[in-house]
Parts: sequence; structure tokens; C-alpha cells
Amino acid sequence: MADFVEVASADDLARRVAELGEQISADYAGREPVMIGVLNGCVPFFADLVRAMSIDLAVDFLSLTRFDGSGRVGMALDAGVPLGGRDVILVEDIVDTGLTLVTLRKVLELHGLASLATVALLDKAPRRIVEVPLEYRGFEVGDEFLIGYGLDWNHLYRNARSLWAVMDLSVLQGDVDAFAPYAYPATV
Ligand code: 5GP
Repeated sequence: MADFVEVASADDLARRVAELGEQISADYAGREPVMIGVLNGCVPFFADLVRAMSIDLAVDFLSLTRFDGSGRVGMALDAGVPLGGRDVILVEDIVDTGLTLVTLRKVLELHGLASLATVALLDKAPRRIVEVPLEYRGFEVGDEFLIGYGLDWNHLYRNARSLWAVMDLSVLQGDVDAFAPYAYPATV
């Protein structure tokens, strides 16, 4: 079996992101939502999604800090944008166990929002260990480890244009460059 399998091509991603942008624009017509990207994995998806939207919106970002070992999660909100009374849409790369999203929602809800929804490009639904609302999702995926289009392996490959499943993690563990020919295929 191949070590890396393409799960969604650049065209598949563009098509689905365009649909999400259209759907969210219709649902939020006249409301000027604040789109908050969860760094770092959201970056390509976020940039494509907001450009697929056809309504006024604000953008902001937050990042998570994980405290080693304790399982506690901290949050730094960029928040030039005051959130009180606003319709907030969290933009995530992937929801896996759901633990990150539960924590983020709790913290954001303290800001007295008008509403809170989440859009995740990818939903690893079978791996969920906590119930959490997910209003919009791009694709439901299995439990393989995914890289590309924002998702990394040790800080690498977020810039791959398509999304891949790693079928044998030991290949990357042994040689981080093994994915490079897939991530950056010749373009001529
Ligand atoms: P959760 O708290 O839902 O378990 O985790 C969500 C976070 O785990 C994602 O934002 C992402 O950073 C990371 N993650 C989950 N599954 C994958 C995956 O298949 N590939 C990569 N690169 N990161 C993942």
C-alpha cells in the first residue's frame, strides 16, 4: 500500500470551500460575523473561506497553548475586535476528539456573544470523545493522520496544496522528507 494517499485534491478543496462560503454567507446575510481562525492549522482554509464569502465580516485569530503533561489548555485571543454582542464563527482545521473545541467555546462564551458557531474543514467524527456542536464542516474523514492544506507534521507541510492521509507514520518518523515529493510535485 502507498505510504501517502490523497484524500482531497486542491480542486476538491476549492470546490467544497466555495460551497461553505456560499452557505455561510446566506445564513449570515446582514449580520457581519467575526470570523476567528484557530492558529496555526486554519491558515490556508481561513484565507480561502473568507474570500469565498460575499458578506461584510471581521477577521481575528486565536492561538492555543498546551501546558505539557497537565492537559490544560490556555488561549491567547488576538482580538483587536471586541466580541460582545457579535455573531462569532470559529474556523478550525479539524475537529478530532472535540476537546479543543469544547474549551474554546467555553472561553468565547464568556465574552457575551450574540451567537457562536464553528466551521471545521474536517470532521473526524468517529474519534469524538465529547459532544460538541459543529455547525459547518467541509468533509467527514476517517481516523488516519492527515497532512497538508494547513495540517502539519512537526511544523512542516502546512503549505501542501492538497490533503493527504499518512498510511504509515513510521515512514515520516524515520524520514521527515519522505512526503516532500507528494507535497511539492513538479508543476510543469
Ligand atoms: P481535538 O481537541 O479535537 O482532539 O484536536 C484538534 C487538533 O488536533 C486540531 O486542531 C489539530 O491541530 C490536531 N489534529 C487532529 N487530528 C489531526 C490530524 O489528522 N493531522 C494533524 N496534522 N493534526 C491533527
